[in-house]
Amino acid sequence: RQPEQDHLMTELLKNFVAGQWIAGAGAGTLLRDPVTGADLVRVSRDGLDLAAAFNYARNEGGAALRAMTYATRAARLGDIVKVLQANRDAYYDVATANSGTTKNDSAVDIDGAIFTIGQYARWGAALGDHHVLADGACIKLGKESTFASQHLLTPTRGVALFINAFNFPSWGLWEKAAPALLSGVPVIVKPATATAWLTQRMVADVVAAGILPPGTLSVICGSSAGLLDQLQPFDVLSFTGSADTAAAIRAHPAIAARSVRVNIEADSLNSALLLPDAAADSEAFALLVKEVVREMTVKSGQKCTAIRRVLVPEHLYDAAAQAISARLAKTTVGNPRNEAVRMGSLVSREQYQSVVDGIAALSQQTSVLHDGKQHALVDADPAVAACVGPTLLGTRDPDSADVVHRTEVLGPVSTLMPYRNLDHALTLIRRGEGSLVASVYGADPATLAQAGTALADSHGRVHVISPAVAATHTGHGNVMPHSLHGGPGRAGGGEELGGLRALGFYHRRSAVQADAAVLDAIAAAPFTL
Ligand code: NAP
Repeated sequence: RQPEQDHLMTELLKNFVAGQWIAGAGAGTLLRDPVTGADLVRVSRDGLDLAAAFNYARNEGGAALRAMTYATRAARLGDIVKVLQANRDAYYDVATANSGTTKNDSAVDIDGAIFTIGQYARWGAALGDHHVLADGACIKLGKESTFASQHLLTPTRGVALFINAFNFPSWGLWEKAAPALLSGVPVIVKPATATAWLTQRMVADVVAAGILPPGTLSVICGSSAGLLDQLQPFDVLSFTGSADTAAAIRAHPAIAARSVRVNIEADSLNSALLLPDAAADSEAFALLVKEVVREMTVKSGQKCTAIRRVLVPEHLYDAAAQAISARLAKTTVGNPRNEAVRMGSLVSREQYQSVVDGIAALSQQTSVLHDGKQHALVDADPAVAACVGPTLLGTRDPDSADVVHRTEVLGPVSTLMPYRNLDHALTLIRRGEGSLVASVYGADPATLAQAGTALADSHGRVHVISPAVAATHTGHGNVMPHSLHGGPGRAGGGEELGGLRALGFYHRRSAVQADAAVLDAIAAAPFTL
């Protein structure tokens, strides 16, 4: 047989739309094991009736979800948690095969998703048996009048389209779907093609369990072509991916002319900052070093929140370079099926090339402090596997090294830079033009508070670490559903999670002006958000 015929022997994953499993036409796109290069499965959505898929979700799924209360939908989220937990082992197998991740790294995606849905199930239960939410208090419109205004949040009568990135096929779906479904809005997810398998498998398990009414959860695997054309004014679009694709999406008529609400999570040049009063033997220094290494190596650095820029006081530049490099040197890289391996591969050979090119671009204005090439691969062929060793770069002149402030390399790569004083450090961090997260390390609460507050306007999250929280903090790059995820500027300007705040994206806010008696009747029903 020809190699192409071999590909056709692999399973063609079906799409779930309009309440049916439908195979796309043609041979589709082949998904590969990024470590061994083995063929896995194929995806195609060619020939799908997209208009019918979106209408079914919008009309059937939307109506069914809106007929339930928040508490009922929260209970369904709890049922989803049980199904995903029951099939967890299979998800780990898919992640190893399709994403090249070690067990610990697969957990970030899989268990992170299950934890997030569980949180929304709990928070949602507290919203009770209501169909709408009150936003703030009722306000009288005039001194004597009984005429008053009450803001209401009602679920949007549309569909939520998710276009997701390759690095979180599980969490990327559920961190968005949990608040959407809890809000009463049906979901259509289009995972990134390279790692679509895990998303498709999870949707298949939830559909098979019969937890959700028909039309509430759909999955389309393959090309994004034509998806945005289906969007109508009350639909919402949540996109996670590169800044280039985000720019194309923003210019689409659905957004530009039909006012479809859009949330964008894009590139981010996240920073870690060691405060000026830290010494090389301080606990704050050790905490920064540990976190930088963890962030560089977890999921092979393929986290949108990973630390890309490390800022230390000038006199600690060499000490930091040595300490981080010494820890990185111990990282075993290669086939995640080998127990000795701590860091698996990138998701594809294309990503491998993109990271190699990114390191070359950064290297034009930096020097190599720890060379990833010195890591011999364990159980993996360097000519085939998408494995890149952790690479620490450094520049002693971060003011003129502009490339490090604008180039995100989505791999195990970070750049160390010295600063003169706190103002200088903050100025350098802001050159990232808006990021998802910055972490700050120090011991003095007042200085930590000052730096943390100063960074808040340009970051969705500020992670402030002192020795007091050394054992309890949740990690620079870990996205907790309790806290906001998203960032201004380059990071896309989006907002996700943050507890029940996430429901705002899926609700419409309107002011109802009426006699106080009417508003009392409304207020008797909803829960205040
Ligand atoms: P990408 O190439 O922009 O792709 C993202 C998604 O958009 C994929 O599903 C892709 O489909 C789809 N797509 C591609 N072209 C499109 C178009 N013209 N219209 C509509 N959709 C289109 O990004 P990526 O390489 O997968 O993801 C890496 C980036 O995502 C990094 O920059 C990372 O920082 C960012 N990210 C951000 C977050 C966050 O929460 N802020 C989280 C994870 C990742 P195909 O796969 O089929 O091409």
